[in-house]
Amino acid sequence: MKHIPICLVLGICIWVFSPDAGHAHEHGAHVHGAAAMNLALDGPNVDIELETPLDNVLSFEYTPKTAEEKREVQTMAETLRRAEALFLFPAAAGCELKEVSLESEAISEELLSGKDGGDTVNFEGHADLDADFSFVCRNPQAITRIEVALFKYFPRLNEIEVQMVTPAGQKSAELTGRDNILTVTP
Ligand SMILES: [Zn+2]
Repeated sequence: MKHIPICLVLGICIWVFSPDAGHAHEHGAHVHGAAAMNLALDGPNVDIELETPLDNVLSFEYTPKTAEEKREVQTMAETLRRAEALFLFPAAAGCELKEVSLESEAISEELLSGKDGGDTVNFEGHADLDADFSFVCRNPQAITRIEVALFKYFPRLNEIEVQMVTPAGQKSAELTGRDNILTVTP
């Protein structure tokens, strides 16, 4: 009589916790030097989600307070908004940048969008930056490779774990400054 509820509880625990652990790993832990990227090719659309510790793209991880810190954030945000220089597609694919959105728990939306002020957040500790990029390509079949030039602009970034979804299926890859090209199987 007593054993049945214990078995049930254990069964539930195993079932609940194992998918959760996988989920946490997939999104990448907060490790300085490392970032996680999801890339999806769907028809003409290329959507890229980058999740990185702020430390990889800034010299600090807290809410910027001084003018110098705010300037550093604006420079970082401008670099990310010029994403045609960060993700290089074959010219034949005719890819055009459509949208960039940046978000961080430590930095106000105003500052990330290039405006001054916005001292609405106050975060101390380890913060991340989420950056989403959308491209639209006239000839997506020509995307056989994508060069990821983020390492050149953010030298504190050492590696990116990439999960890629294309019509050919799912694939994962690890990029570094020396090996920064994603091979895409059409
Ligand atoms: Zn950190």
